[in-house]
Amino acid sequence: MFDNLQDIEGKTDYDSAVIDTIWFDFDDNKDVKKCLLDIRKFIRKYCKPRDITPRIYLTGGKGFQMNIDFHSPLEFPDSIKRRALREYLMYLKKEYKLKTLDERCINNSVSCLRRIPNTSYISKLTNEPTGVYCIAVTVEEVMKLSIEEIYGLAMEPRSVPKRIKSKRALRDMVDFTCDIFDIEHTVSNSVIYLYDKLKEAGSYSSIGSTEERYIKAPRKCIIELIENNIALNSSNHDNNNVIALELLDAGKTDTEISFVFSSIYNEPAGDYGWYNDDPTIPGKQIVNMRAKGLHRYNKRRLREMGICNSDGCPCERS
Ligand SMILES: [Zn+2]
Repeated sequence: MFDNLQDIEGKTDYDSAVIDTIWFDFDDNKDVKKCLLDIRKFIRKYCKPRDITPRIYLTGGKGFQMNIDFHSPLEFPDSIKRRALREYLMYLKKEYKLKTLDERCINNSVSCLRRIPNTSYISKLTNEPTGVYCIAVTVEEVMKLSIEEIYGLAMEPRSVPKRIKSKRALRDMVDFTCDIFDIEHTVSNSVIYLYDKLKEAGSYSSIGSTEERYIKAPRKCIIELIENNIALNSSNHDNNNVIALELLDAGKTDTEISFVFSSIYNEPAGDYGWYNDDPTIPGKQIVNMRAKGLHRYNKRRLREMGICNSDGCPCERS
């Protein structure tokens, strides 16, 4: 499903799809120039340093599509594909501050329309072709031309770029997915070896879909964080994210999690969204996290945040 350029409407079966490319959809209904700036930023900060050449298309509507092609298809177990892909795209969106990267497509919660290159864009208002084609643009053009000049190119069909498959792009995604499952990895580990480790991780988890959560007991360092914050009557946004996701994965309900935050802050709720003054109504932050299908922080990130001290904490296996 991912490797052909068809208009794909409706839900893609990510669980069994062959993933040999990552789709990025950049959309902005008001100002398509913002999409261009995001793509340039991503090329400058991610693609260029890694010698990755993406395929880029102006959709003819109000956005761009971009593909990064892997050297070979990802050999992940079906049970982890969807989650790995979603979390990786969310991570890239956050890390490179890609405001126009379409979250609906990331979550696959609504239909995503892929456009066929060199077909004319159909206006959603009039159902008529607008005369603007879905065209490929090169990296050089994206970096150099204005949005007006790029639309100028879209008045007629253009040649379709060939895929430049990247080992580095594949490796980045494999490394990221190992982090999700707390699989230790170094540059000297082969991709084949890491696939094996991921296969093991996939076989004992049923966290492939957003609806099914694999219940995990909260880790000691997070329990200490909660107790500590309750004692101090203080916390911060990062701590709150860590706590909420830990408790979500521990099978707690939204109101139970909100209760923890009301215990920490012990003051009127305000509109921060972590809890409400009416304890039967959960905080909207928690409701949103569940809806997004987010999962708890892995050990590496907890260590980077200084929440888990690498020595002596028993949170080895997540
Ligand atoms: Zn820990």
